[in-house]
Amino acid sequence: MSPPPTAQNSNVSAAGAPSTAPADPLTLRDLDSIDVARLRGVGPHRCESLKALGIESVFDLLTYYPRRYIDRTAQAPIRDAVVGSDITIAAEVLAVSSRRLGGGRRLVRVDIGDATGVMSVVFFNQAWRERQLCEGRWVTVFGKVEHYRGRKQMTNPVVDVLGDRTGKIVPVYPQSETAGVATWDVANWVAEARRRCAARGIADPVPDWLRLRLHLVDRATALADIHDPRSWSDKAAARDRLVFDELLRVQLMLRCQRLARESHELGIEHEPTGGLIEIFHRSLPYSLTDAQRRVMADIDADLRSTRPMHRLLQGDVGSGKTLVALHALLIAVRNGHQGALMAPTEVLAEQHLISLRELLDGLVVPDDARLGGTRPLRLCVLSRSRSAAQRPAVLAEIAAGHADIVVGTHALLEESVRFSSLSVVVVDEQHRFGVSQRAQLREHGREDRRIPHLLVMTATPIPRTAAMTVYGDLDISVLDELPPGRTPIATHWVQGPLAAASMWSQVRAEVESGRQAYVVCPLITESERLEVNAAEQQYAELAAGVLAGCRVGLLHGRMPSADKERAMARFRAAQLDVLVATTVVEVGVDVPNATVMVVLSADRFGIAQLHQLRGRVGRSSHASMCFLVSDDDPTPTAAQRLTALSQTNDGFELAERDLELRGEGTLFDERQSGRSDLKLASLARDGTWVQAARNAAVELVAADGDLDAHPALADEIAWLAVRRDPDFLQRS
Ligand code: ADP
Ligand code: MG
Repeated sequence: MSPPPTAQNSNVSAAGAPSTAPADPLTLRDLDSIDVARLRGVGPHRCESLKALGIESVFDLLTYYPRRYIDRTAQAPIRDAVVGSDITIAAEVLAVSSRRLGGGRRLVRVDIGDATGVMSVVFFNQAWRERQLCEGRWVTVFGKVEHYRGRKQMTNPVVDVLGDRTGKIVPVYPQSETAGVATWDVANWVAEARRRCAARGIADPVPDWLRLRLHLVDRATALADIHDPRSWSDKAAARDRLVFDELLRVQLMLRCQRLARESHELGIEHEPTGGLIEIFHRSLPYSLTDAQRRVMADIDADLRSTRPMHRLLQGDVGSGKTLVALHALLIAVRNGHQGALMAPTEVLAEQHLISLRELLDGLVVPDDARLGGTRPLRLCVLSRSRSAAQRPAVLAEIAAGHADIVVGTHALLEESVRFSSLSVVVVDEQHRFGVSQRAQLREHGREDRRIPHLLVMTATPIPRTAAMTVYGDLDISVLDELPPGRTPIATHWVQGPLAAASMWSQVRAEVESGRQAYVVCPLITESERLEVNAAEQQYAELAAGVLAGCRVGLLHGRMPSADKERAMARFRAAQLDVLVATTVVEVGVDVPNATVMVVLSADRFGIAQLHQLRGRVGRSSHASMCFLVSDDDPTPTAAQRLTALSQTNDGFELAERDLELRGEGTLFDERQSGRSDLKLASLARDGTWVQAARNAAVELVAADGDLDAHPALADEIAWLAVRRDPDFLQRS
């Protein structure tokens, strides 16, 4: 990255600047080009410490936001501190002394005072307090007030050092013991940086009309008030503005990328009705849900267009995504092209093959070379485990266009796989695929610069506003309705041997009445090997113990594919009553007669995964149940997860809870846009700002993906893109 022109501009310092014409206000690019080493008091040693905190430029420093604030005036005055009560006091350090006690121990004694009185604070065995609590520093102390020799005193209180800040509201910055940077250091440097920026001021690239419409303060005010607010409402207004800035940058970038992509990518036009499609819909044993109808209409519109579809389908487990996928794939076939369905696991690919075969039974496609003018629709499967001997024949069929729909795993992405004319790609259970794989898949089908339409399906819904950021480059459709006749799954959190015994007797009762059950074994993430051991052991114990007399089978990821298929086939055919499995059954497995899901060590699973596992039951009109068995003493967050699952079956509601519990970091994969750029914004809490930023981006970016009318914003986006990824310019 070549240094921008203002990097050499010595005019940053207010005092002593040559009396030239006033320079333009500082942009974020300008602020990022000023090294923190230029601030007073930041020598080489401090520079290293700051670097450890991710602070190298003045931009980094000004966006190193306080973790929280302390209102000094809201703390109790010393005069009112009641002996025996726990209390927080804000006061100034008046004197510090220390002395050695017997046994090599040390006592530090600090006198503090406010306008109403003085008191003592004593620390045992914390000799470093003598250095930390210098005379003149402001501190807050929290602890129990004692009475000692006629004076109020606290022993070993919790201390926050506020430095020399005497304002009403004092910022507390994230501190790092190892980096040795104190909160008042940061506050002082921020204050100095702000003083030195004052002459030129800070530019605001957001147009006034937008700012006024959203009731946002300008950027300079926001940066001042987030660090040094005079009131809580100032702080809140500052935060709103800075949150909007972060989200607007992300949305602008996504919008520009998207429009640029659309302007140069050419897809294949389809006729989405008639022929095969009509016959297929007439042959269905049930009618579509309204949600399925709506999403299919979205897809029809996309496939009619020469602009490649790029759509995410979010639908809760059991909402009927497979049918929607098949609809899209058949449109490809109806128009003389091929469709591909990619699944994350072999179990799921095989499962799809079976359900597609059933749904497509008897369908024919036009074929002039045949006597009757038609031939049966052809499905094939491509996965690594299918015998190597079959592979060349399957590849040849795909390349010749004899295979109409290809179902497969990652194996579909391999170089050797060439399609004759691939026009629709469906990726199931997207959370297992990264963004780059998505791009790879699109490139893969590319024929004479035409790009296949892409539908990505996920059963791990995330809140809509979060999806706008995480999947900002995709259009979103939602299946928010389950097929009729489903009874909600009764979910129980099981703790202790008595509850477990009652659970196993319920499992046996279900089996006796002809239903089937899954038992999912503990997840041991470090080692697949251990996971398999645990499953095998669990299987042996259950089959000989509580499930004696039931037909029990085992399924885990390390089994040879043929054995996996056999176990699944037997379970599907109801030749097994109980399937003991690792999480390979997590996604997509569809056996409607299974009505019980037991998850052992459920406290080790995340919300999304438990919801997925639970989704394996409740797939018919039979009432279903899910047992989440936990340790006797799960962690508080594990307990919150298990409670959430017992309370609701709604995947979207669970996704909101998950986001609250875990934060958004987990939503992004490393290379995905946005993550590192969100310092203040929270996708869980700032949903309305995400929406506002999205709307603003749509308004600001012209139809051709240009920000020509807003050069300052365009510059900010360009700067951010390069900053985030220095190779950005070369690649795009
Ligand atoms: P998902 O992949 O979204 O979890 P599936 O596509 O596996 O869900 O569908 C779940 C079950 O619901 C399947 O057994 C399927 O045959 C059935 N199903 C799908 N759509 C309908 C519908 N409109 N009416 C009744 N049953 C349906
Ligand atoms: Mg599915």
